[in-house]
Amino acid sequence: MIEIVARNGSPEAMLCPAFICDACRKQVMEAGNVIYAVRYPDQSERETSPLFVAHKGACDMAVQQWLAANYPVADGWSDLWDEIDDFLAYLGGNFKRSFAEDADGQYVPHVVVMPATSPKLP
Ligand SMILES: [Zn+2]
Repeated sequence: MIEIVARNGSPEAMLCPAFICDACRKQVMEAGNVIYAVRYPDQSERETSPLFVAHKGACDMAVQQWLAANYPVADGWSDLWDEIDDFLAYLGGNFKRSFAEDADGQYVPHVVVMPATSPKLP
């Protein structure tokens, strides 16, 4: 997940936002994925999971397996992912763009469905 990591030491203590892998709990730097689940129970609303983060490779596969168990395809869920670099570009673009004032489209209302279990994997 995107988390706040506390740092102490010189020159001062800091609170540092960071991508933390939901599989191994280590900081993700450079190559990694943002992973989430979505479904459309009806056409007027969209449901999403929270955003999860993983290193590419074994961590990514482990988080996707955990996601599939907690947001099952049989219940209408599907998983999506973005590379962190792409995710940051989309996030930065949307930070300055008002969805409410978008003349070219409407944004579907959505709710975040929290998981029943922790994503922290052994
Ligand atoms: Zn990892």
